[in-house]
Amino acid sequence: MATKFPKVDQDCCLSCGNCEAVCPEVFHLNEDTGKSEVINPQGAPEDRIQDAIDQCPELCISWEEEKR
Ligand code: SF4
Repeated sequence: MATKFPKVDQDCCLSCGNCEAVCPEVFHLNEDTGKSEVINPQGAPEDRIQDAIDQCPELCISWEEEKR
């Protein structure tokens, strides 16, 4: 079974905070780097994670597939 989870491209992130605002259970701005990181890939329903992905102004967040 393949599970998909969100991944943030650290080089692309502008630290705008949109993803954390939409989905704080999953995304968090790292205090040191200011970049968004995934703290809990399954912390929110897929459609809300998709909302966060859609609202990233730089399109830095993508789905990755993990095979189990
Ligand atoms: S919405 Fe995009 S640019 Fe903004 S903090 Fe999240 S990953 Fe970074």
